[in-house]
Amino acid sequence: MTCLKKLEKQSELEKEARKMLEFRNVSLNDIAELVFYLQAQYQDNLTMEECLHNVNRVLSKREVQHAVLTGIELDILAEKGLLSEPLQDIIHRDEGLYGIDEVIALSIVNVYGSIGFTSYGFIDKQKPGILKKLNDHSSGEVHTFLDDIVGAIAAAASSRLAHAMVGDIKGIQE
Ligand code: MG
Repeated sequence: MTCLKKLEKQSELEKEARKMLEFRNVSLNDIAELVFYLQAQYQDNLTMEECLHNVNRVLSKREVQHAVLTGIELDILAEKGLLSEPLQDIIHRDEGLYGIDEVIALSIVNVYGSIGFTSYGFIDKQKPGILKKLNDHSSGEVHTFLDDIVGAIAAAASSRLAHAMVGDIKGIQE
């Protein structure tokens, strides 16, 4: 495969991941709001635009795209009742002790340093904004994986912002 073809393939993957988030009614703005929630107390004059920029950078990472596609696919299959038992029941009920949704999220949290890990744990407990909505099981929708993925993207973006603040990431204005 030529380099150019590889690049095209990567960007197709990114487009698909973004499309899936949109399809599941999660906007980039929703995720940027979580970043603001996490980072505003540490950074004076933080804007939503900066938060959104960092969410976009996180979404450009291939491991993040893979996690988004895998997690959402499993949510949709569970919602349609198409998984085999006992996994169907476990994911459909969002069983607390399952834990693999968090494991998939871990492939995202550290892409910009390990402080993403702390932030992820924090918003996973607090469940602000879109995370509260995704955890509302009364809708009949299954978001067993999506809530962790969204929290992890926000945590990684927040970590990127924190590193950029002290000049660890070059080209932050890009
Ligand atoms: Mg979950």
